[in-house]
Amino acid sequence: MKTAIVWFRQDLRLADNPALLAASKNADVVLPVFIDDPTPQSCSSIGAASRAWLHYSLHSLDSSLRQKHSGLLLVQGPAEDCLSLLIQKTKATDVYWNRCYDPVSIARDTRIKSRLSEQCRIHSENGLLLSEPWQNCKDDGSPYRVFTPYWRKLAKTLPAPDPLPAPKLIPPPPATCTDELLASGFDQSLDQLGLLPDIAWHTDMLGHWKIGEKAAARQCRVFLDKLVDDYGELRNVPGYAGTSRLSPHLHFGEISPRQVAQAIFKAGRGSADVSRLSPGAETYLKEIVWREFAYHLLFHFPKTVDKPLDQRFENFPWPRLKPARLRAWQRGQTGVPIVDAGMRELWQTGWMHNRVRMIVASYLVKNLQIPWQKGENWFRDTLVDADIASNVMGWQWTAGCGADAAPYFRVFNPVLQGEKFDGDGDYVRRFVPELAALDNRNLHKPWELPTDSLRKLDYPDPLVDLKSSRAQALAAFDTIKAPVTK
Ligand SMILES: Cc1cc2nc3c(=O)[nH]c(=O)nc-3n(C[C@H](O)[C@H](O)[C@H](O)COP(=O)(O)OP(=O)(O)OC[C@H]3O[C@@H](n4cnc5c(N)ncnc54)[C@H](O)[C@@H]3O)c2cc1C
Repeated sequence: MKTAIVWFRQDLRLADNPALLAASKNADVVLPVFIDDPTPQSCSSIGAASRAWLHYSLHSLDSSLRQKHSGLLLVQGPAEDCLSLLIQKTKATDVYWNRCYDPVSIARDTRIKSRLSEQCRIHSENGLLLSEPWQNCKDDGSPYRVFTPYWRKLAKTLPAPDPLPAPKLIPPPPATCTDELLASGFDQSLDQLGLLPDIAWHTDMLGHWKIGEKAAARQCRVFLDKLVDDYGELRNVPGYAGTSRLSPHLHFGEISPRQVAQAIFKAGRGSADVSRLSPGAETYLKEIVWREFAYHLLFHFPKTVDKPLDQRFENFPWPRLKPARLRAWQRGQTGVPIVDAGMRELWQTGWMHNRVRMIVASYLVKNLQIPWQKGENWFRDTLVDADIASNVMGWQWTAGCGADAAPYFRVFNPVLQGEKFDGDGDYVRRFVPELAALDNRNLHKPWELPTDSLRKLDYPDPLVDLKSSRAQALAAFDTIKAPVTK
């Protein structure tokens, strides 16, 4: 009897899951497994907000598997040891997984392959990306560092092959096998994994979301039916829900980029040609490809997890860290309304609008002169869509030290950005209610109010002066702007 283990990681879905489908076709028995690995930097070192999401996503996956008379085995421990023991106990002949592309996962999977290949066959598939990170390179084989040519080349390969169906049948293990696993201490309950925080701060945050494969498919459908045509224009307006909010679903693999891409082409009335998509649909598809680009960069430049791609920035003269400033930024108490609104949106919902991510990141790195890694770490802990590839790319882009980066001298002016993209003040009023009564003229720069009105506001003075902090940042950037010689 052929027994296969399917190891779920960033692919918490049944449909378009190449590893699950292949195992279900080829094996007599399929054992779906999720391993919560406490090894530093492994899956369990993801941030608190993502862990809370993961709890419910696993719950949803288990329910879907149960509808197919299967179920998810939950295990805690170092992945290598857990898999090795599971293979022994179940006499599995094959292990299937969909590939992850961050450096820690690549190193772990390589170790596991070499350790387990004597015990069984290992099969890895692509379930996370439209294109493998090593496929869409320049003609000379080197990786792209600039998005537009990367996009042009990838666009020629679209539409991607159709997504795969969910397996009709996932042959479950016999009762003797599950009894044996239970007796050996396998199969923990979801609660035993301890993904949820001890103090239930997550319930309000997750109240903003519906989690799981079905919810992701619905969210994608609604966005493409109702919002995609205006996406090009409205995606920059943080007070309006004009983006798809698929990022956590994509991160955890509740929906695949192939499924999203196919839905975009279908919504484009079946046109299989990128150039014939509506402008909104094409812009949206490009965003999906930005995610691909982030993985392309991370794969080819793995050091960028915590080091700048542009080496000059390794010598950036960061001033001594002022922890109180970092805390004020984290808590949305900087005294700059659009920045505080963004940081509070993050805290309350586990998500922040892309435009505002750029504004708060620029403010942290340039006006407060705090290293981008501090911001990246905070986002990693608090975002439900925290994703090492997109997060690192977003931070390095804003700091000016990454691929296709915003030039270092581009310092977002949070007042102008607020006035331009939140002109009616909906966003700031929603997340900074202490400013709700201000008129639009003062909303994004309350410090210009007369002193007696200012005193009545329960809102902090700005941490730094925007103009002089900008000048200081530019002076510091000047010290490293000589071109890299090697
Ligand atoms: C400083 C900073 C940090 C970021 N950190 C993350 C992160 O940890 N995880 C994350 O998924 N995205 C991150 N982004 C990218 C972007 O902000 C989010 O993907 C987007 O806001 C998610 O909302 P949405 O699903 O409504 O996006 P939509 O506008 O609906 O876009 C659809 C999908 O395209 C992808 N996408 C869109 N914009 C980008 C982008 N700039 N880079 C990469 N992929 C993109 C996402 O998967 C997104 O779900 C970051 C951006 C910045 C500036």
